[in-house]
Amino acid sequence: WSSSDSVISTDSAGEHSAEPGRPYRVVLLGASGVGKTAFASIFAGAADSMDSDDCELYEVTEKEIEVDGEPASITLIDTWDSEQYMQTGDAYLLLYSITDRASYLRASELRITLRRFRPAQNTPIILVGNKCDLVRRREVSVSEGRACAAVFDCKFIETSAAMQHNVWEAFHGIVRQLRLRRDSKEA
Ligand code: GDP
Repeated sequence: WSSSDSVISTDSAGEHSAEPGRPYRVVLLGASGVGKTAFASIFAGAADSMDSDDCELYEVTEKEIEVDGEPASITLIDTWDSEQYMQTGDAYLLLYSITDRASYLRASELRITLRRFRPAQNTPIILVGNKCDLVRRREVSVSEGRACAAVFDCKFIETSAAMQHNVWEAFHGIVRQLRLRRDSKEA
């Protein structure tokens, strides 16, 4: 039956996150010093993760987490060679530090680069303003963060990796967006 062939070929040509069982690839992006490593170590937690640091350019942690009562497998990629990994992600956490305006501007640049690599409108991206514990050193206001996210059509959250505040909310948020996208594809 010819139409089933076309369904199969559409699937295999489409986004690979629809494959059952394959972990979602979530990439941490952002200027140096914004807290990507801190995010990755919170994600990795203690014993139940697999770290590989044999490649000097990135670290990968694979882990299953539970979001809204449903398990989700995530491969978290923490990279400082970001452009190389921009094409490989299913979703992105775009970090800046609220204490560092240059990192906020860098996040905008990365968002634009990302759009070039991932032109699909519905790629899940969360803009993350980290280090919100450092109130006295704040250089980027909450409303600037929100405005930037609105311009770039992504979600926004402020976090503190140091206080472990909102970090899991960011990971859970990205899984929810991935699921929404998956469900809208299946519909
Ligand atoms: P990366 O270069 O993006 O991987 O940044 P790191 O995770 O190495 O963080 C850079 C520095 O900022 C380290 O000294 C961290 O301890 C510190 N840091 C990261 N997140 C936070 C945070 O939320 N609050 C505070 N106060 N410090 C943080």
